[in-house]
Amino acid sequence: MQIVLFGPPGAGKGTQAKFISEKFNVPHISTGDILRENVREGTALGKKAKVFMDNGALVPDELLIDLIRDRLQKPDTKKGFLLDGFPRTIAQAEALDPILDDINKNLDAVVNVDVGANELISRLSGRRTCRSCGATYNIKSNPPKVPGVCDQCGGELYQRADDTEAAIKHRIEVYQKQTQPLIDYYRKKGLLIDIDGEREIDEVRSDILKALERLQ
Ligand code: ADP
Ligand code: ADP
Ligand code: ZN
Repeated sequence: MQIVLFGPPGAGKGTQAKFISEKFNVPHISTGDILRENVREGTALGKKAKVFMDNGALVPDELLIDLIRDRLQKPDTKKGFLLDGFPRTIAQAEALDPILDDINKNLDAVVNVDVGANELISRLSGRRTCRSCGATYNIKSNPPKVPGVCDQCGGELYQRADDTEAAIKHRIEVYQKQTQPLIDYYRKKGLLIDIDGEREIDEVRSDILKALERLQ
């Protein structure tokens, strides 16, 4: 199963990706997580990406396309994959097709998690992220059992540098201008599945899993 999880920043992609990748036993490939790891480790890619990420801008397409080509060629994608945060521009979507051809795969579905701007701002400003495993929590809607500590791995929770109000607003604008056009792009290809993301985490989860089970 090859799935793209699509939606604005804060829609709940990372939260839902965890359930989907466990259920269908496919690797969860989050370009945001991979980029943050590169920033943390100070790699050449991380150094180039950091300024864009801190400002809530998109990292240049060429860097993302190289990153995703390398990642999809790893052997664990033989059973499929779940892309989270890629593609985010038409250029990235167009580059994805030849990369998939090379590994003999097609996309099965693009799951579009729809959430309005006001709710996104509230979710992102309360988001806390695990430094060790990348799991996300929310101080209001999805708190960890012990404040500041990851339920999954015991790691330290922190607030991302781009989860400040200014960067959040900018990311939502960037989404509307550069990423939202992909909805029509994938709808025309017959791949889009619309999900109402503005409900409880469990309800969203069960809708997505039901829609994906129908594809199998
Ligand atoms: P994305 O990966 O799309 O940016 P996340 O999965 O990190 O989004 O979720 C953004 C924030 O909203 C996190 O703090 C998360 O705990 C919270 N969240 C996720 N899904 C829901 C939901 N259905 N209702 C309320 N809060 C949610
Ligand atoms: P969110 O879902 O909260 O927007 P992500 O963790 O997916 O955040 O991405 C964080 C940042 O990483 C983005 O704001 C952007 O700077 C960069 N990034 C991630 N994926 C891409 C992509 N496909 N194209 C360009 N930039 C990306
Ligand atoms: Zn953790």
